[in-house]
Amino acid sequence: VQEDFLKYAHLPARTKDSYQVDIGCNIEFLEEIPSAIVHGAEGIGLYRTEFIYINRDHLPTEEEHFTHYRQVVGIEGLAWATIRTFDLGGDKFTSDPKLAKEMNPQLGLRAIRFCLKEVEQFKVQLRAIIRASAFGKLRIMFPMVSGIEEIREAKRIFNDVMRDLIEEDVPIGRDIEIGVMIEVPSAGIVAEELAREVDFFSIGTNDLIQYVLAIDRINERVGYLYEPLHPAVLRLIRHITRAGHSNGIRVAMCGEMAGEPVYALILLGLELDELSMNPLGIPRMKKIIQNSTLQESRELLDKVLKLHSATEIRDYVEHYMRQRF
Ligand code: PEP
Ligand code: MG
Repeated sequence: VQEDFLKYAHLPARTKDSYQVDIGCNIEFLEEIPSAIVHGAEGIGLYRTEFIYINRDHLPTEEEHFTHYRQVVGIEGLAWATIRTFDLGGDKFTSDPKLAKEMNPQLGLRAIRFCLKEVEQFKVQLRAIIRASAFGKLRIMFPMVSGIEEIREAKRIFNDVMRDLIEEDVPIGRDIEIGVMIEVPSAGIVAEELAREVDFFSIGTNDLIQYVLAIDRINERVGYLYEPLHPAVLRLIRHITRAGHSNGIRVAMCGEMAGEPVYALILLGLELDELSMNPLGIPRMKKIIQNSTLQESRELLDKVLKLHSATEIRDYVEHYMRQRF
């Protein structure tokens, strides 16, 4: 079976009516890169940099950061690398005492909030990321942004760091794209305004679903309510993709939803520009996309958006996909 799938892995994810989606991979460790290439990744859609930080007792130096980022850009066969700045807190802990225990870590001082508080530390990471841009196509994105102030503040710090590097004559790439993860409902709702601030969106469905439905993503007791096909989730994602496209920016998805074959046509119907997933899921996803059409995907999405409950939508989509593939 695996061999059969690998045939599809190295062809583009293009539908029969010629709609093409870029396929990225999500990685946490550099060791995952060779397997991502074998499985047909075209770029790195999400590099979870907080894993550099986890399980260690000192903060990474600029050189340590740089050593990692240098290795994800300019790789033969991978056309871009999207580096996400630290997403610490929430479900990703470290021993850093600055990240105090909180009653509600998912709603606490995590990700971009933490970085905007610890600006010096944030700048160390940004310097290393920008330096890596001299070696290949690099995108940078900020996690857990909830509104326009945070993205403006993050961009201001990014520009300061960029200016410093230019003054120091450090080689850097000139076409770094800046993006925002859309994974907090407020960011999704104000996506129109956010789209004017950035070059791309990347929808983080793991968190977006958690916050839209108020379901702790790691609490198994409520896992049965965690539903990517909930009408509220689908409508919000559609709002986000439309807001991005009407402002002329790319819209990617990098949550687990992006790699689930059963959602493939829904994702096509949403007209996402990039799906980024765990490498092992790529061949299967590509095979489904290559055997479907944008036309049917749009029709499927329109149909399910008229249904009123998650159960009806799930039944409809699962039935459709079983018949079709
Ligand atoms: C997400 O929230 O969907 C996401 C991709 O980020 P993470 O899973 O690392 O929180
Ligand atoms: Mg997230």
